Amino acid sequence: MQRRYEVAIIFCLFAVLSMGTLADEKAAPLRNVILIGWDGTQRNHLKECLARGETPNLKRLASEGNLVAIDVLRVTDTKAGWTQILTGYNPEVTGVFSNGNYQPIPKDYTIFERLEKFFGSENIVTVAVIGKKGHMDDDPPQKIRVVDDESAVPRKTPKQPKGKRKAAKVAVKPAKLKKNAQPQEGKIVEENGVRYRIIPGKPYYHTREGMDVFINGLIKDDVVGSKTLELLTKYKDNPFFFFVHFAQVDHSGHAHGENSKEYNDAIKSGDFWLGKIVAKLKELNLYDRTYIYVTADHGFDEGKGSHMDAPYVFLATNDPGVMRRGFREDIAPTILERFGLDLSSIKPPLDGHPLTKSYTPPVW
Ligand SMILES: [Zn+2]
Repeated sequence: MQRRYEVAIIFCLFAVLSMGTLADEKAAPLRNVILIGWDGTQRNHLKECLARGETPNLKRLASEGNLVAIDVLRVTDTKAGWTQILTGYNPEVTGVFSNGNYQPIPKDYTIFERLEKFFGSENIVTVAVIGKKGHMDDDPPQKIRVVDDESAVPRKTPKQPKGKRKAAKVAVKPAKLKKNAQPQEGKIVEENGVRYRIIPGKPYYHTREGMDVFINGLIKDDVVGSKTLELLTKYKDNPFFFFVHFAQVDHSGHAHGENSKEYNDAIKSGDFWLGKIVAKLKELNLYDRTYIYVTADHGFDEGKGSHMDAPYVFLATNDPGVMRRGFREDIAPTILERFGLDLSSIKPPLDGHPLTKSYTPPVW
């Protein structure tokens, strides 16, 4: 008894003595956040799924918080979309305008990096589990020697002798690199008579260095979902921010069209995995401390296999503070504010505004 008392006193002394240093450190966040992406989910189609009772988990989630409309003011594609959602900036700040016009997101501009900086890298786990291969990548910039690429620029010089062409072909990077490099992408430059294709680094090239886990190219929802459950279990004792990106809706839309059974099934698949994630959080006793936001980067052209002009998406959440409709760039500030960051101190100033406060955009 006596001994326990002494231990308690020593502990209290230690606590008092260390308060000076503790005060300098940021407190652990009260909540974890999981941002779930259903790439390419059209708002109207989702509404139909909800009306038919095909997305019960989304309905339940939103019943605890809200389901609001998100409109897209910029290009309705994947690179532009997730960049805006994960940074809170317009393309003029990030340089990511569209799938074909982009650069690496500037260092420290994403939610992942801001949280790591704010809490200290030991005090938060930041994770991205991504279904897409292409558009959601972290590849470095590439300089590829152009050989026999008819699509690059019209050949002005006569064909080189066969022997020389063969030698040049050998000098080119391995086939894998050539396959990944999309032929229409990148600028062609000529140096000392040799043509090169300069492909910019992919959007998450810098981001990846400033976060804990970045996994992409998982393609199938089942793979994304199981990996997420595995990582939630692994990091259950840490405060965390997860970005979980499901690609099957988008892939099915491109392959079969927006009104197809496949597109509809993919939305149901997203809902199935939302249910699994919620169940896992409940099993780990984390659900009450975790905000979940489900959203999409763009919708789909009605009845088509494209999303050229598809600005209507949604945000569903168990966060009861979300009180209004908004834009893609409003999602990052919503999450950053939930983690306790002072938005007014963020540089450069965010283009988005948290969905937990009213905001009337200026009318032109
Ligand atoms: Zn997309």
